[in-house]
Amino acid sequence: MIDIVDVYKSFGKLEVLKGINLHIDQQEVVCVIGPSGSGKSTLLRCINQLEKVEKGHIYVDGEEVTDPKTDINRVRQKMGMVFQHFNLFPHKTTLENITLAPIKIKGVPKEEAIEMAMSLLRKVGLEDKAHVYPANLSGGQKQRVAIARALAMQPKVMLFDEPTSALDPEMVGEVLAVMKDLALEGMTMVVVTHEMGFAREVGDRVIFMDEGQIVEEGTPEEIFNNPKNSRTQSFLSKVL
Ligand code: ADP
Ligand code: MG
Repeated sequence: MIDIVDVYKSFGKLEVLKGINLHIDQQEVVCVIGPSGSGKSTLLRCINQLEKVEKGHIYVDGEEVTDPKTDINRVRQKMGMVFQHFNLFPHKTTLENITLAPIKIKGVPKEEAIEMAMSLLRKVGLEDKAHVYPANLSGGQKQRVAIARALAMQPKVMLFDEPTSALDPEMVGEVLAVMKDLALEGMTMVVVTHEMGFAREVGDRVIFMDEGQIVEEGTPEEIFNNPKNSRTQSFLSKVL
């Protein structure tokens, strides 16, 4: 589903990604962990071309997103992205937030978009919040709306960048539960997270990044129970 081949990315003189190679299969849930500043967000942003890479190639669902000839807006529709901050449109209701892109970008008829949005709201447990504005939702509810909004475009892969990091602790679980359901339904997911419990339980594979490189990868069991690299060991000793 995603192929990342020898990707380099710098901001000015700062090298942020230094030769990333990663292959993600359909229906795989890959959790990316690592210290702050290691390049996790930049990697996600390169996958959907919010950032351009300097060198290397990235393919999503067989299309090269790093090829300037590719219609990136079309390929982007295959990727749903959920950020730490929800980025909901404040002047639109929950329902309008979810139906906007399907109607405007995909040309889905309004009635159909509403029907799909309501079924997504049911799925994330927020059917009763359809006509509420973001300001009147809790952080956890906003994030669940953001997930529903991304799903409304029927993406083939979901990219999550620390989706629970900005939440009060009591709201983390409800968002992780929605993500877990999605994983069980077979969604291909790349999840940057500090939630080691989630990575262990839901991840098929865990990637440890440090200083712009993938230092170690393996099954959750391999990474959490038996990390081989000293940098992985040191990181885990601080977060577990
Ligand atoms: P992580 O998500 O692992 O915390 P990031 O990918 O956000 O790491 O950042 C990696 C490095 O790149 C950091 O040193 C960060 O300050 C730098 N960086 C990220 N985005 C930009 C940008 N747009 N301009 C300049 N530097 C950036
Ligand atoms: Mg980040």
